[in-house]
Amino acid sequence: MKQILVTGGCGFIGSNFIRYQLSQYPDISVTNLDKLTYAGNLENLKEFESHSGYTFVKGDITDADFVNSLFNSVDFDAVINFAAESHVDRSILDSGPFIHTNIVGTQVLLDAARNRNIDRYVQVSTDEVYGSLGAEGLFTETTPIAPNSPYSASKASADLLVRSYIKTFDFPAIITRCSNNYGPYQFPEKLIPLFISNALEDKSLPIYGEGTNVRDWIHVIDHCRGIDAALRKGKPGQIYNFGGNAEMQNIEITRLLLTILEKPESLIKYVTDRPGHDLRYAIDCSKAEAELGWKPETEFDAGLKDTVQWYLDNPEWVSRIRSGQYMKYYDQQYGNR
Ligand code: NAD
Repeated sequence: MKQILVTGGCGFIGSNFIRYQLSQYPDISVTNLDKLTYAGNLENLKEFESHSGYTFVKGDITDADFVNSLFNSVDFDAVINFAAESHVDRSILDSGPFIHTNIVGTQVLLDAARNRNIDRYVQVSTDEVYGSLGAEGLFTETTPIAPNSPYSASKASADLLVRSYIKTFDFPAIITRCSNNYGPYQFPEKLIPLFISNALEDKSLPIYGEGTNVRDWIHVIDHCRGIDAALRKGKPGQIYNFGGNAEMQNIEITRLLLTILEKPESLIKYVTDRPGHDLRYAIDCSKAEAELGWKPETEFDAGLKDTVQWYLDNPEWVSRIRSGQYMKYYDQQYGNR
């Protein structure tokens, strides 16, 4: 795995993954293909701008001509597809970009990759494709997919396309499905960074319904280690679940954040529940533990404290994103490229 293509590498998980690759594997060459939507931020990988093993390419995974010409110019050993529209609430407001990027974009990448000498293709997916659990049980890799939001439906559709290329073309793909990530560089529209930034400004923290929805939380570095293990040790055609063994109600995590930040619970504001809101996600990752030798290593309380500290240490990053300032940085840095 010397020459890898990472799509969506300017987003939250993709940028952490590229940082992990470049720090773990000195000989690796990473091409980062990203459209730079509102969620993509070049600053996330600023320290690698002049790194010889890192190339940024601005482009859209749905643009077949562009993607094919990239594959013609670089002989990739592996593709890791992070690029996606990723925010459930936005998918409820307008599902169009989700269908286009998450499904059509995956099809374009699969078609570009399948006629080349690719050793591995990793589709980075989500536990949300499995739908919702009741109070008991865990998602395994054989749980039937039953997505409930336009976001999760688009991710499930992409997973099915990947599956069909594995079956039809013997394409060496792997699908990974992970629970909710937290950690540095997460766009402040998602629960943890949104609540940290709001609390720091003494703004209210909007909680859906009664705050009793349960999610499993995993530190982004543990997810990146899992994807890396799937890429290097996973069997083609397999699905691997990743989770953090940290199930928590939204209200519990909110209270923890307020305690760390020494802010009052009066900031909590209950708002009308999200339509189709899944009650509970919980994940069984014993297959990844057994077959990839992977397990989550970050203890949740410590990981959350470190994450809060990262946001406290990087107020400029948050305020630039919140004010759209980083687009100015992009134009300055890269012009119209
Ligand atoms: P993100 O929204 O932070 O980043 C997405 C990136 O994709 C951005 O850099 C964006 O510019 C880029 N992008 C969007 N459309 C594109 C297109 N058409 N062409 C090229 N680039 C495009 O998302 P994230 O939270 O880092 O998630 C990354 C992947 O992991 C997604 O596929 C998501 O479904 C999956 N995932 C996320 C979580 C989570 O908790 N965040 C959990 C499990 C799986």
